[in-house]
Amino acid sequence: MHYLDNSATTPVLREAAEQAYKVMTSAFGNPSSQHKMGIEAAHILKESRREIAAALHVQPTEVVFTSCGTESTNLALFSAARRRRKGHIVTTAVEHAATLQCCKRLEQEGFEVTYLPPDSTGHVSAEAFSAALRTDTVLASMMLVNNETGACLPVGACGQALKRRCPEALFHVDAVQGLFRVPLTPEKWKCDLMSVSGHKIGAPKGIGALYLRKGVHLAPLLCGGGQENGLRSGTEALPNIAAFGAACRVRAATFAEDVKKVEGLKAALLDGLQTRLPWALVNGAGDVPHVVSLSLPGCKSEVVLRVLESDAVYVSAGSACSKGRESHVLRAMGLDKGRIDSAVRVSFAPYNTLEDVEALLAGLEKAAAMLRRG
Ligand code: PLP
Repeated sequence: MHYLDNSATTPVLREAAEQAYKVMTSAFGNPSSQHKMGIEAAHILKESRREIAAALHVQPTEVVFTSCGTESTNLALFSAARRRRKGHIVTTAVEHAATLQCCKRLEQEGFEVTYLPPDSTGHVSAEAFSAALRTDTVLASMMLVNNETGACLPVGACGQALKRRCPEALFHVDAVQGLFRVPLTPEKWKCDLMSVSGHKIGAPKGIGALYLRKGVHLAPLLCGGGQENGLRSGTEALPNIAAFGAACRVRAATFAEDVKKVEGLKAALLDGLQTRLPWALVNGAGDVPHVVSLSLPGCKSEVVLRVLESDAVYVSAGSACSKGRESHVLRAMGLDKGRIDSAVRVSFAPYNTLEDVEALLAGLEKAAAMLRRG
């Protein structure tokens, strides 16, 4: 099996699965219980929070657990915007649906939203961001790494511009595809809120987190028992949280060498494309080596995916979330329809190998021979 769809989700790391198993079968108490089992669970919660906070370069008290990156983004955007009745929000046209759909809802509630367009490489400039700011801007939300192209957005320059021009406004960074791809420095970025998700880094699905800068107060979306400092009620998903903590510990220990390894995989893919499929087009800037978007003009992505799948090579067309719909990211970049319809996203994780790259290249050659006309 050659799994090259790690921006969609990743296999669970052994250490993370073992930690989850331990919590599910022996340390299964409720962290709010007053007895020994509860105290043990509360200790695991605290330790996991510490490990995740270290990966995010924030304080443990600034981490709020959620069920996923989407919930983290919903909590950030709805709560931050609704501190005011109306106002202006700045985001980009290349955000994940989690952000775009929240912004659409906020527009229905009376907020005005500016969606900054990218250039043809998938970048959005800090100058365009600054120019979009208004006196009534209450919130800005920007992704760190684009899930379809691997382009990095200038969150640092944008955060600083926002705080200079609109000191009351809050800045949210969607770092779901950034965690363990690039270093996270939320303080430097003047970031108030930052979303991450466990299943993109080797933890199970069902766990995310929101960084909430000390001193920022948000209203919860879920009310109940008051867990997570009242911001996210509901008994903590301790097996998932513990696994997320373990995944952060493991990934942090090998971060630098992992990035080098993934750079080698991307270089091998690009070399292979140049010699074996020189007419293939690479889409976007691909600032991080983990994501390569490529188009094989004349070869519909759904069909390429099926050909690759028949050789146990797994990739996405656009993003996994777009489920066959035309990519809004590639469209916003102004790519032509032929290029969008033939786009394939390859996404690496550190466990991938050169054999995976070779299997992909062989599969792409096979698909091209079957599908390419002329
Ligand atoms: N933001 C980005 C950039 C993503 O790529 C994703 C998932 O693909 C999300 C948010 C949503 O994360 P989750 O799947 O944990 O809800």
